Amino acid sequence: MFERFEVEAEAILEEQIRLCEIAAPTGQESTRGDAVASAFESLGLRVARDAVGNVIAEGARRPRRPLILSAHLDTVFGPEQSCRVARPGESNPYRGGAIVPANEYHAPGISDAAAGLAAMLAVARALSGTSAGEQIVYAATVGEEGLGDLRGARQLFATDLGRRARAFITIDHSDASAIVNAGIGSRRFRVQFRGRGGHSWGHFGRYNPAFALAAASDRLAATEVVREPRTTFNIGVVRGGETVNAIPEFAEAEVDLRSESPLALDGLERVLRDAVASGHQREVARRSEAALEPSLAPIGDRPAGVTPAESELERTARRAIEDESLTPRLIAASTDANAAIAAGVPAIAMSWGGRSDNQHSVREWFDPTDRARSLRVLSRILVDLAGSDDERG
Ligand SMILES: [Zn+2]
Repeated sequence: MFERFEVEAEAILEEQIRLCEIAAPTGQESTRGDAVASAFESLGLRVARDAVGNVIAEGARRPRRPLILSAHLDTVFGPEQSCRVARPGESNPYRGGAIVPANEYHAPGISDAAAGLAAMLAVARALSGTSAGEQIVYAATVGEEGLGDLRGARQLFATDLGRRARAFITIDHSDASAIVNAGIGSRRFRVQFRGRGGHSWGHFGRYNPAFALAAASDRLAATEVVREPRTTFNIGVVRGGETVNAIPEFAEAEVDLRSESPLALDGLERVLRDAVASGHQREVARRSEAALEPSLAPIGDRPAGVTPAESELERTARRAIEDESLTPRLIAASTDANAAIAAGVPAIAMSWGGRSDNQHSVREWFDPTDRARSLRVLSRILVDLAGSDDERG
């Protein structure tokens, strides 16, 4: 059944290119969603759009405990960015007109996640009409990237369909031997210190939000985090103030906290809140006049969590990779699988196959060599899981 991936390599590639060339910035995925929906319809699947625009496809006999295979529709690129694919031998507009080498396809989004969508459709075609196929629900999700904050996957797992799922597999990375079983959680905040401002000379002595932010930043910077589970923090953006001879009315920073562990993330959020309070207090103690309360607004929240090694899903994935004579390894990343794990559904992210690099950059490229191997891995996982479900029928 899986020889077809070699035979159909050309058609799979053309489908990937066609989808890549339909722009799909986060929040504007509907045209690409339509194309994916009609591809599913041509397989005789029932296709629906949910409340946020996810494309959901399944067979006529609705599975009670579905296996969900997914890939995301959106890209990190804005609507102004061309996503025309430069093919081998053509001049490459994304690299100053250099000639594209043999087997390479260059375009923003060509792998992440046009390759994921193409892999999902190829697997759907291969399993269509089989008993495994009847247990699978396919989901092309919106809002995976950046400030989309996993909107589509969260919606999926807020509904009955998601909560009934036996397992969730999203196709969202390039490494054929890797199983993403840990979701890196992130929480993002905009921290703002505020005062009434004033003249740097005439009002000297008033509360200065820039000093308060600096004190809080220093406190955060000095925080020691554990290596295991890996936990990190960052101040990525700093703003505030009008001119050099005025006390600023506000100073703000955008802060990114990440961890493989929800508990560590909770701890890090407390550290940030303490740092903000202490930065404020230090500045109040020095210059109390004209101080306003600082604020801390959430601007992103991706849940952390792990699908245990040795769980049925992880073991099945490992075997499927070993069957391709590869050595499986477990890694952590931030994907739609985070939302599934947070909802208590076993979830992993798997490879779209081939070779690719420079995701999230206009220099992104894809080489389909050996893609069939990863498509076989995906199919084998689904067939094995479907066969092991004793509650079938
Ligand atoms: Zn992605």
